[in-house]
Amino acid sequence: MTTTGSETGAPITDRVRELVGRSSPFNTARDAVNEAMIRHWCDIIDDANPVYTDASTASASVFGGIVAPPAMLDVWDKPGLHLTRDPSNPQSAALNLLDAAGFTSTVAVNSELEFARYLRPGEWLHSTLTLEEVSDEKQTGLGTGHFVTSRLSYSVGDELVGTVLFRVLKFRPGTGRARSAAEKPGPDPDPALRPRPAINRDNQYFWDGARAHELRIQRCNECGEQYFPPMPRCRRCGSLSMGYRVASGRGSLYSFAVPHYPQVNGFRYPVLVGLVELEEGTRLVSNVVGCRREHLRVGMPLELCWLDSHPASADGAVDSRGAISLPQFRPARAARHTETRRADAVAPGDELPLCPIPLTTTLIAGGALATLDYFDAHHDRDMAQQRGSKDVFMNIHTTLGLCERYVSDWAGPEAWWRALRVRLGAPNYPGDTMTMTGSVTAVDQGSGEATIVFRGTNGLGDHVSGTAELTLPASERSIGAAR
Ligand SMILES: [Zn+2]
Repeated sequence: MTTTGSETGAPITDRVRELVGRSSPFNTARDAVNEAMIRHWCDIIDDANPVYTDASTASASVFGGIVAPPAMLDVWDKPGLHLTRDPSNPQSAALNLLDAAGFTSTVAVNSELEFARYLRPGEWLHSTLTLEEVSDEKQTGLGTGHFVTSRLSYSVGDELVGTVLFRVLKFRPGTGRARSAAEKPGPDPDPALRPRPAINRDNQYFWDGARAHELRIQRCNECGEQYFPPMPRCRRCGSLSMGYRVASGRGSLYSFAVPHYPQVNGFRYPVLVGLVELEEGTRLVSNVVGCRREHLRVGMPLELCWLDSHPASADGAVDSRGAISLPQFRPARAARHTETRRADAVAPGDELPLCPIPLTTTLIAGGALATLDYFDAHHDRDMAQQRGSKDVFMNIHTTLGLCERYVSDWAGPEAWWRALRVRLGAPNYPGDTMTMTGSVTAVDQGSGEATIVFRGTNGLGDHVSGTAELTLPASERSIGAAR
């Protein structure tokens, strides 16, 4: 259906469509590709690939010197804080027309980056944008609106270095699909509503430790036997002298259960309950968070994280014992692979390790600013709430960086990126965890080209899904080694 525009003009869709196929004038980035911005980006993305920041390692690599992270391709030409929509840019003109027709909300939907080569510090990037497509009006979960697709071409001098396909949804706020009546509200997941632990003389040390974010394991001062839960007296030697040691927080999943009923307030269902084997040699029962039931595998590595709950209120009064902290476990982030995987060491079906990414306001706001995205809803909670969002939410460039880090940490520092394509779904809000999963779908042993599909899931659903196309070396390369 065609949307009716203002009474004076043609239907809005027709007026926007007239812009399709037009290109913007060339835009030159404000700054050359530079190591300071690369370092800020690597800090916030937590990407330790040395080819981005370490000159001597980068020189000895296949890149021959420091290169910019490929996912930064469309960061360099961002205008920074004082964004104005240039009417000579057909995308801006299209967005202005849609704004005027009431489609005032904007979300990024797809981004597809293709890299002809890596960028190096000192290079000046030029870009031009072509408006590729404006969809008919669609009913989406967020609201009725139009998908607007643009393609950016990036060049250094006359050399094309990459392209970015970028699609946004412009929609009318408040026209999203109503929640289905079958979707019954579950228990209130506010952790402040959880049952309080009974703290007594025997377990006081444990809860005191938890408040200090120390996981304390009871240990007999006489014979060294460890206990969980704590005992008043050593079962082995009979001693009453009981102390504790602080656990490293590393462990593995020994067993698990997924209780469904009864559902009580304070928990988000399904609740994953794990019997965690600590590397110190004792086991404890805890929640496994940051992943889904289908991610659980007996023996999977886990790491400690803390749930700092708030004081519960009982009978309208705040619990006088104050806030408590609970030890929980999430999948352990796998170590970065410092050798670059060979194509013949990789096969379709190979799985990348689970990687939980805690979503903090620092990551979301810092990621937006490190990618020169000053849209207020990425760093200012008040403004985000005025725009109808429950909190600040992650920008697409931070998501792209995290996807690049996830795949690169598995593939190794000299895997050569050819393309990174993502589709966005549920927003990433602070306090949640995005868990990355991925697998290899294709490897060409002749060219070394490999395709990896990945997904980042948070408490609301899929935040991102996408594909990475990389070229892997024919022989295993340890960074710094001569080829
Ligand atoms: Zn003992």
